[in-house]
Amino acid sequence: MIITFLGTSGVNAFPEAFCKCNNCEQARLLGGASLRKRSSLLINDDLLIDLGPDIMAASQIHNSSLCNIKYCIQTHPHADHLDLSHLLSRSPDLGVIGAPCLNFYASHETLQRAALTFESELSGSSLLSLDTQKHLNLKLYSVEPFQSFKLGHYRVTAFPANHAPTMGALLYAIKSKNGCIFYGTDTGILPDQVWQGFHKHNMRFDVVILDHTYGFNPPGADHLNADQFIEHITRMRDEGLLTQNARVFATHIAHAGNPPHPALAAFAKQHGYEVAYDGLRLEIPA
Ligand SMILES: [Zn+2]
Ligand SMILES: [Zn+2]
Ligand SMILES: [Zn+2]
Repeated sequence: MIITFLGTSGVNAFPEAFCKCNNCEQARLLGGASLRKRSSLLINDDLLIDLGPDIMAASQIHNSSLCNIKYCIQTHPHADHLDLSHLLSRSPDLGVIGAPCLNFYASHETLQRAALTFESELSGSSLLSLDTQKHLNLKLYSVEPFQSFKLGHYRVTAFPANHAPTMGALLYAIKSKNGCIFYGTDTGILPDQVWQGFHKHNMRFDVVILDHTYGFNPPGADHLNADQFIEHITRMRDEGLLTQNARVFATHIAHAGNPPHPALAAFAKQHGYEVAYDGLRLEIPA
């Protein structure tokens, strides 16, 4: 399994284009891994997590074609994770040739919000209509928290996030014959039922990718800071949820609270984890 980070920033990218804070100014000077686009993850060449606003730029910059994407699993409908205009731009109407049907999985709440936005702002037709989906070369599927389902040769399990409570935000474990990854953004402290769910589904992660939005700033309710991140990873290790050589990555890095990549990566190393960056490709097993 090859995973490619298409974006690793929080809601407003890093550097935030309008911001003169020290972190943003330093990131501009350093460039490279310190330049972060809005979060999205590519698995092999056929599974995308989050149809985010920056995936077109990411595909170009990181030489990651999305031509073969058959599946998208959507965490939630926040605008830094879901740009519905991609559903139009990848359709045959806009001249796209040879794209497979996109099987799009999200919570009921996410699908309802997406349908409202799509109809009012983009198309005038309902995404929930089978005719519209056929026209867009798209199939929508509703996912429940703790549901486990097969996507081609992947097994995906959805877990409820502690984030945007009315939006049915989900986190995903993706397992293939080559390993298992957990994609855990956006979320605050994971609820007990999620920890129980990990054990019920016999999860053992080779790679954990977890929310690090607030960095060195104080904790908030809807995302994690560095201390909470470390507590979560420690608990995962203590409860046997990580394989022996598991790698742990911070993502959803906000400019407020997180220094540019080299300083953040040095801090993370001291605490036994790594910091993802845009364009990072991992092969599992290594
Ligand atoms: Zn976000
Ligand atoms: Zn800034
Ligand atoms: Zn969010």
